[in-house]
Amino acid sequence: MAALKIKQSTIKTIIFDFDGTLAKLNIDFHRMREVVGKLILSYGITRDELHTDFVLEMIDSAAAILNQRSPHISKKFFDEANSIIEKIEIEAAENGELFDRTKELLNSLKSLKISCGIITRNCAKAVKIVFPDILSYCPVVVCRDAVNKVKPHPEHLNKALNKLGGSAKHTLMIGDHPLDIKTGRRAGTKTCGVLTGHFQKNDFIEAGADLVLPHAADILNIIK
Ligand SMILES: [Mg+2]
Repeated sequence: MAALKIKQSTIKTIIFDFDGTLAKLNIDFHRMREVVGKLILSYGITRDELHTDFVLEMIDSAAAILNQRSPHISKKFFDEANSIIEKIEIEAAENGELFDRTKELLNSLKSLKISCGIITRNCAKAVKIVFPDILSYCPVVVCRDAVNKVKPHPEHLNKALNKLGGSAKHTLMIGDHPLDIKTGRRAGTKTCGVLTGHFQKNDFIEAGADLVLPHAADILNIIK
């Protein structure tokens, strides 16, 4: 099994995704895509001009197109789009919750002297709603508001890693989406997929994950 690709002694830092990995995933991305798609269309841009189905990238792509016409209109669009998705994220967060073993997991890693960070495409406000005392469990949390380029761009992971003073070589990226695996591979970390989101073991193996676990907290069985 892929587990053998990771030597426990080499892992000194773990970077987690948030939604679907440490907390129950309940953002309605389908609805978000629909609403943002409608807004984009109202600015005269069609979906096939965007070349992506990921909401954040749809927004960036539309903003770039609009920027060629008018930076002012582009900014107006960007702010509108952002407040739409933030509203959906906050709604989801209000109905969200951490997975049962998340706090225990982060505390155990701390006592094992493994540095931990969290990177998420979610906004900081929503993360704080689900996990108000997050910083007492995990010292570095990098939400999308804090980076220019969100994951799968490696800048997102590297920002967390720099804050922790960790090196990619001794880091494991854990997430519930193949995009998390892509992020880790681009940044040069080891990677682990977890089955607490919408993806199956094969999706992670295809994405090149070094390891697949049922739940993020199961990493304790490997690190210990
Ligand atoms: Mg996720």
